[in-house]
Amino acid sequence: MLFKKVLVPYDESDHAKSALHIAFGMVGDDPEAEVHVVTAVSVGALPDPLFGGTSLESPFAVTSQMDYDAILGSLLQHTRDDMAGVIEGARDGAVCKVETNAIVAASPVEGIAEYVESHDIDLVVMGRRGLGRLSGMIGSVSYGVLRSVSVPVMTVK
Ligand code: ATP
Ligand code: MG
Repeated sequence: MLFKKVLVPYDESDHAKSALHIAFGMVGDDPEAEVHVVTAVSVGALPDPLFGGTSLESPFAVTSQMDYDAILGSLLQHTRDDMAGVIEGARDGAVCKVETNAIVAASPVEGIAEYVESHDIDLVVMGRRGLGRLSGMIGSVSYGVLRSVSVPVMTVK
């Protein structure tokens, strides 16, 4: 198999779900292959611990670094738990290894690009669009990833 380590950036959208099916279809019968399913959380969407307040996009109130770490930990755990169910539904009998991760990054694009580098990913399969409401040919995360990684990127509907 040409590709051994496939990354599916995952945002719960239907396009990202079909990316999961396609990734499993491509490498699923190779027990040595790995599918990494990763959700990136923007640092800007998290509460700002310095000011002890809430960020505009965050429903959480934070009063100390301890609260911040606890909130962050449970947010990432929830994301991983949610992904686990979806992945089981998309596996289609695949025997490859699966790794799920939730990461915090300056932006989803930067987080995904860093993940590609640090995990030696050799193919990215992602949705052409995501959860955004505007319709158009391609979403900003897909566009940014296409521009910033050197490995092949497959965008799917
Ligand atoms: P926009 O966000 O620009 O309004 P959109 O939501 O329609 O547009 P994108 O966000 O580019 O489109 O989503 C395209 C694909 O990128 C998704 O199907 C998913 O594979 C991936 N993706 C989007 N956001 C994230 C994220 N936060 N973490 C991981 N993957 C993501
Ligand atoms: Mg989006």
